[in-house]
Amino acid sequence: MTTISNNLQRVRERIEAACAGANRPVNEVTLLAVSKTFVPDAVREAFAAGQTAFGENYIQEGVEKIGLLRDLPLQWHCIGPIQSNKTRLVAAHFDWAHTVDRLKIAQRLSEQRPEGLPPLQVCIQVNIDGGGTKSGVDPKEALALAREVAQLPRLALRGLMTLPEPAADFAAQKAVHARARALFDELKAAGLAIDTLSMGMTADLEAAIAAGSTLVRVGTAIFGGRATSSASPAA
Ligand SMILES: *Cc1c(COP(=O)(O)O)cnc(C)c1O
Repeated sequence: MTTISNNLQRVRERIEAACAGANRPVNEVTLLAVSKTFVPDAVREAFAAGQTAFGENYIQEGVEKIGLLRDLPLQWHCIGPIQSNKTRLVAAHFDWAHTVDRLKIAQRLSEQRPEGLPPLQVCIQVNIDGGGTKSGVDPKEALALAREVAQLPRLALRGLMTLPEPAADFAAQKAVHARARALFDELKAAGLAIDTLSMGMTADLEAAIAAGSTLVRVGTAIFGGRATSSASPAA
């Protein structure tokens, strides 16, 4: 077994243990492998070990990798900030976008989604902890934005995404994730047909699953450490 396939196995075991601890069926939680900064061959190794969903932060880098891996049946998630001048690339190349936090970006993604492709699956990014990244809509605005995004013809609204600041320990991590879960439930109660709560990374996936995450985005624990200069999660 390669390092990546070993690592993947260990991450799957962490997810299974967290689900068991939270009394949740393991099929409620999707593993997204975050391959940002890693070469296409690393993605090929993960695919050989059974992983099909991959996340990229940097749109240009992601589009290049997607092109080089066209021969594999992969699902690509954009998990980085989306500026207006990048919406066309995201709409044309990705299957999912987790980081929609303004109506204008959502409208452009919908208008630019090519006709031949299924709707772009989207999550609304919520600034759940008022954190330093400043990406994400204020939780108080999330319902209104979700209602508008749900109307856009070429998008399929799937849920919410959060990227909180690192918290000190499990209890603090879980408290923040629980706020996101409460907001997610609020939107569902308001009638939105959503099923995805994208939260939890290498350091806090157990707390995220305990709080109700349905999709964890894991990079370091699968592919190893990234060079720090170009790889801050907020970049
Ligand atoms: C880099 C990144 C991840 C993965 O982080 P790890 O700590 O390496 O697991 C998840 N989500 C987002 C938005 C990221 O930028």
